[in-house]
Amino acid sequence: MLIVMKMDATPEQVEGVVRNVEAHGLKAHPIPGVQRTAVGITGNLGVVGANLFESLPGVLEVLRVSHPYKLVSREFKPAKTVVRVGDVAVGGPELAIMAGPCSVESYEQTVGVARRVQEAGGHILRGGAYKPRTSPYSFQGLGLEGLKILARVREETGLPVVSEATDIDVLDAVAEHADMVQIGARNMQNYTLLKRAGRCGRPILLKRGMTATVTELLLAAEYILDEGNPNVVLCERGIRTFADHTRNTLDLSAVPAVQRISHLPIIVDPSHASGKRSKVLPLSRAAVAVGADGLMVEVHSRPERALSDGEQAILPEEFDQLMDEVRQLAPVVGRVVPVYAGQ
Ligand code: PEP
Ligand code: MN
Repeated sequence: MLIVMKMDATPEQVEGVVRNVEAHGLKAHPIPGVQRTAVGITGNLGVVGANLFESLPGVLEVLRVSHPYKLVSREFKPAKTVVRVGDVAVGGPELAIMAGPCSVESYEQTVGVARRVQEAGGHILRGGAYKPRTSPYSFQGLGLEGLKILARVREETGLPVVSEATDIDVLDAVAEHADMVQIGARNMQNYTLLKRAGRCGRPILLKRGMTATVTELLLAAEYILDEGNPNVVLCERGIRTFADHTRNTLDLSAVPAVQRISHLPIIVDPSHASGKRSKVLPLSRAAVAVGADGLMVEVHSRPERALSDGEQAILPEEFDQLMDEVRQLAPVVGRVVPVYAGQ
């Protein structure tokens, strides 16, 4: 249910509605808008009727929301959400470009890539310290040491950092050291982790599961918002299909599909989507053209030596080219590639 407040409703009246909703054992989510405030209600609405709230002071109307997703939907919040990661805006007219190695392997490797990403005009450094690997014998990440490397590189470069939390045991450490917490494709439906992410105090990058529908992706995000964290960026990273010329199939149509239903930003990861270096630039162009709010790209100075995902990592000079191309394309789709002070 959505309670739409009158245009001249006072903050006290909004607060009164929130208290009333909570008194019925439900959650209230005030959503400030340009014209008026709305209060979204989640929880078990089975026994609660709209008439309970209709006559409260300041209330204009109470709407039933038919979709399974509520807080992530444009019905609840028509205006696009802009998520701030450090100084970087994701979801506004500015494109947000996240780049870096698949895994943090050493300080030298990470700072080297970070500087190249920064010089090329990238905005956020990515790097996994905890790695979800298909084989237990593959490199599992440097763990806490990797997070400390990322934090040090952030200090030295000014680039905000995004890193993956693979389970609830490591979530707090990732939230402490990184500016944004990534929840990977394999964990998109790990509901315990999603709920904890909703309480971790950091913006979340939520990647689409490799067999997940757009509805399932949005419902996964709903878990995070329902715990009080509105700062979620979605990521299309390719899904499993019968196509065998790429690691996954990049479902570009997910971008406008999500944007139609949801106010949350959505970026594209062409690296995991294709699994091949040669496909990353063309798919990045396509992602910007389709209206993505940003990109996440794997970059490595020596991909042949990378401890994970070397085949899909582009070289720093290829990242230079990617940024040049994105800068040329951005105005065609009404976007800009910003330069942030202090980066
Ligand atoms: C990653 O970003 O390195 C990663 C493991 O991604 P995904 O969860 O999309 O496979
Ligand atoms: Mn990877």
